Amino acid sequence: MQPKFLEVFLESTEKFGTLYGPVVRNDILTYDKAQNAAELVPNLCEKTMIPAKKLFHPMRFDMFKFDENGFVPDYSMIERRVVVGLHPCEIHGLLTLDRVLGSAPPDPYYMEQRKNSVIVGWSCAVCNNALCKSTNTDMIQEGFDLFFVDVGEFYLVWIGSSIGYDMIHEKEEFFDDKVTHEDLDAYTEWRKKRNASFLKSFNFDNMPDIMDMTFASEVWSYFADKCISCGQCSMVCPTCNCYNVTDQFDVTNALKGKRERMWDSCMFADYSLVAGGHNFRGARADRLKLWYTHKLKAYGGEFGKPGCVGCGRCVEYCPVDINVLTISEALTTGEVPKQ
Ligand code: SF4
Ligand code: SF4
Repeated sequence: MQPKFLEVFLESTEKFGTLYGPVVRNDILTYDKAQNAAELVPNLCEKTMIPAKKLFHPMRFDMFKFDENGFVPDYSMIERRVVVGLHPCEIHGLLTLDRVLGSAPPDPYYMEQRKNSVIVGWSCAVCNNALCKSTNTDMIQEGFDLFFVDVGEFYLVWIGSSIGYDMIHEKEEFFDDKVTHEDLDAYTEWRKKRNASFLKSFNFDNMPDIMDMTFASEVWSYFADKCISCGQCSMVCPTCNCYNVTDQFDVTNALKGKRERMWDSCMFADYSLVAGGHNFRGARADRLKLWYTHKLKAYGGEFGKPGCVGCGRCVEYCPVDINVLTISEALTTGEVPKQ
């Protein structure tokens, strides 16, 4: 497809759902409902601070209303959506969340929004902190309805589902199904350039074993002294999915109210605080170990794939340089980063 057709094509997908994607709000690029396709087009290759998980696993929402007779689930946030601009790491992130939140018992809110969403993936401009080549998540073969590769002069479009075919049928005059040798050469060149543009890399293959062998390492106390327990790493990570719930009671009737759900982080000091005042992970080092054990070992053991999709956000946003790269390097070498 030629880039000049993109805006009209995206407008034509309206019948499949409300258009969502990376838009600028208050000078920040974020996933949100788009006012129109033109708002999305300039941002499709760029990375947002908060990943696309926010569209499926919202930061805060009402789960249900309750009274003395029982409860009524609130699914008002679920809508049919066309979510555009998801990069390979974002789609891998959603596939990871599917394994976690889709496991029995499935999370009905997340799963309903997933079922009601069409995914239009997009190739990215490799960012400085990208680790997706190292985590084998720089390309994607599943988890999308359409996937656009921005080769430059044209978009190479992969179709991943029957809905993807239906979307293309809406504007089939924009698409050419005859792929030439020149097109393939352009794609091969694009991949070569892209592969050469990664600035950071690490071999994560041994990390499950290294996590086992370094449980008592001094490295943990070094990072624990620096960590400020802000939880930023969890908020920006596409595979973090912990949440808390609180009940809001009606001031006129103590049996009536609603339950709210909001993102939480195992990096917060009170995350493992239980009745009676005992805290299973009161020490920052224990919380860091939990977070990184999940990413680098436990997810892989349970689901066959690591919990890190290499998006680089923890590298970018932790205020004290604690991230999947600094932790993995320090645990592997036994040396902490130089100041
Ligand atoms: S590791 Fe960094 S981002 Fe995460 S809680 Fe600690 S200081 Fe905050
Ligand atoms: S651990 Fe860091 S690099 Fe890996 S997916 Fe989470 S935020 Fe991205």
